[in-house]
Amino acid sequence: MAKPTESDAEAAVRVLIEWAGDDPDREGLVDTPRRVARSYRELFRGYEEDPRSYLARTFEEVGGYDELVVLRDIRVVSFCEHHMLPVVGRAHVGYLPTRRVVGISKLARVVHGFARRLQIQEKLTADIAEAITDILEPQGVGVVIEAEHSCMTLRGVNTPGSTLITSRLTGALREDQRTREEFLRLARGP
Ligand code: ZN
Repeated sequence: MAKPTESDAEAAVRVLIEWAGDDPDREGLVDTPRRVARSYRELFRGYEEDPRSYLARTFEEVGGYDELVVLRDIRVVSFCEHHMLPVVGRAHVGYLPTRRVVGISKLARVVHGFARRLQIQEKLTADIAEAITDILEPQGVGVVIEAEHSCMTLRGVNTPGSTLITSRLTGALREDQRTREEFLRLARGP
């Protein structure tokens, strides 16, 4: 299948505007297909990235640090693959290093790289945990995502304020009760 061009994408947006019941030729909407097509490039940038590559550069001089590393409140902006509506929330990511750590901004970039695709939250959570597990080979990984799904809160069953929480815990964060509780406490915040 040939990759659609920007004008193909704009034509598709025009169809959706008409499908919604409006006139794509009226003044306020004339430039909308172009804006939407361009905003898609940004919102779905994850397809052009390899989030795993952000974890490639690690630091081995950790001074014997062997406690949890947790980054809380990473903003998540994603789109549910069932309705293409926004999923907005926060991710908390942690791991128990073996001998390597990564720069903390890299954890956020991994989250963004996987989020900026059509996703379901369960898979997004698992994708992040798997990438960290494969590349850092830590003693364990924890990923918790709490997010509001527009497809539920703006339409359908219409449950404003409801949040979906997903988590993936591996290794010591799953098996060792003390480590698990500590991660969940740190992820929950003050
Ligand atoms: Zn949905």
